[in-house]
Amino acid sequence: MAKYDYDLFVIGGGSGGVRAGRVAASLGKKVAVAEEYRFGGTCVIRGCVPKKLFVYASQFSEHFEDSAGYGWTVGEPSFDWPTLIANKDKEIARLEAAYRSGLGNAKAETVDSRAELVDDHHVRIVAEDRVVSAETILIATGGRPNPHKALPGHEHCISSNEAFHLAALPQSIAIEGGGYIAIEFANIFHGLGVDTTLIYRGKEILGRFDMDLRRSLHEEMENKGIRILCQTVALGVDKLPSGQRAVHLSSGETLAVDQVMLAIGRVPNTEGLGLEAAGVETGKTGEIIVDEYSRTNVSNVYAIGDVTNRVQLTPVAIHEAMCFVDTVYQGKPTSPDHETIATAVFSQPEIGTVGLSEDQASAEFDELEVYLARFRPMRHTLSGRKEKMVMKLVVDGASRRVLGAHILGPDAGEMAQLLAIPIKARLSKDDFDRAMAVHPTAAEELVTMYQPSYRVKKGERQAG
Ligand code: NDP
Repeated sequence: MAKYDYDLFVIGGGSGGVRAGRVAASLGKKVAVAEEYRFGGTCVIRGCVPKKLFVYASQFSEHFEDSAGYGWTVGEPSFDWPTLIANKDKEIARLEAAYRSGLGNAKAETVDSRAELVDDHHVRIVAEDRVVSAETILIATGGRPNPHKALPGHEHCISSNEAFHLAALPQSIAIEGGGYIAIEFANIFHGLGVDTTLIYRGKEILGRFDMDLRRSLHEEMENKGIRILCQTVALGVDKLPSGQRAVHLSSGETLAVDQVMLAIGRVPNTEGLGLEAAGVETGKTGEIIVDEYSRTNVSNVYAIGDVTNRVQLTPVAIHEAMCFVDTVYQGKPTSPDHETIATAVFSQPEIGTVGLSEDQASAEFDELEVYLARFRPMRHTLSGRKEKMVMKLVVDGASRRVLGAHILGPDAGEMAQLLAIPIKARLSKDDFDRAMAVHPTAAEELVTMYQPSYRVKKGERQAG
């Protein structure tokens, strides 16, 4: 008889957990994957996927406006929130079923329950009040929105979780935060016609991105009519008899809005998971501490994805899952590679970026060449839209290696994915220059910027 009920028990059926469970099962391992909510996890159920569908929905208002310059007359457009929600829910249910059947087809067991560690080899399946044993346990429980408990009235606010299921589209919203989620949702709500105010504690939104992108995006968002209040925080939120919320700001102003959304980061889902019982160490924010092979301090317990708070991105969790399988089941110890990760912010206009920002590069390299283009993309010529596109390459002056590429404008995310290849391959500006342009595209700018716009020497910007 086998010593354990399972070779592998995965807690959490999100992107990372499902991938690890499915691939391990396809290698003939006896696997169970437990999920307390819905298979697919944050990305599929209440993150990347429904968010992108919302982004598409919100872009139509500008598409309708832009079409006039191309000769179209469209009637007065109207938008129906319940239709969007219902169609989105249908698509999410389809994807959830695909995640589930992917596990089933690989002969992994799906367990519809919360699961908690009892000790290093035992897991309690809470819904069935049953304990099972496993040789290896993988924790992939992800994260959840920081509820901002220090904010008086935080219970009157929503997070991105609720934004996907609001019974009605608010007429006005205040969003606190200056990161991915706050920026993406500010643009979504604005595009859907909601009066939107963004509240950010720092000086400049999207602090980790290249300065030219974050400043230009800030400007474009304000030009559209989004109100952005920097160096401001909410001090308290009250629920008014009308049902509206009053947001008391550090500036002394009080906003009356239909909804307040908090997007101030996500915290690892480790509460009540039984980590102490199993002896698994966690860090300051509750994240599970792992080594370079995603192994915890307990030798048969591993953790991947957002719960480890390394890089909170779906493709990273999936990559960590594949490395886990290689390490544990394929005899090939493999560390996840967290270097040079391309990423997009689905703002409007969109951000796509890979590699070092100018600030990061100038802290590491003595001399940089910076290639910067700002132009009106062709699609905005006849539409009359004033929005500018920004493209920037940051190049090491000594080796001419392209260290970073940063794009603001339509399809920037798609471009960042392709730029990830030459930048990961450490190609040089000369390689970029040798590539023939695809004309007419916006992306051709990336291979036709022949002269640096300026140089940076020891952190100091020089004339061009
Ligand atoms: P981010 O870490 O991107 O941003 C959090 C924001 O909240 C920052 O602007 C931060 O300010 C601010 N903040 C933090 N604490 C407080 C506080 N106490 N009071 C006021 N403001 C505060 O987190 P998000 O919640 O936007 O997203 C979580 C993660 O999900 C992201 O890091 C990203 O990895 C992932 N994600 C990725 C997406 C994509 O790939 N397109 C889309 C959505 C999410 P400061 O800058 O000053 O620290």
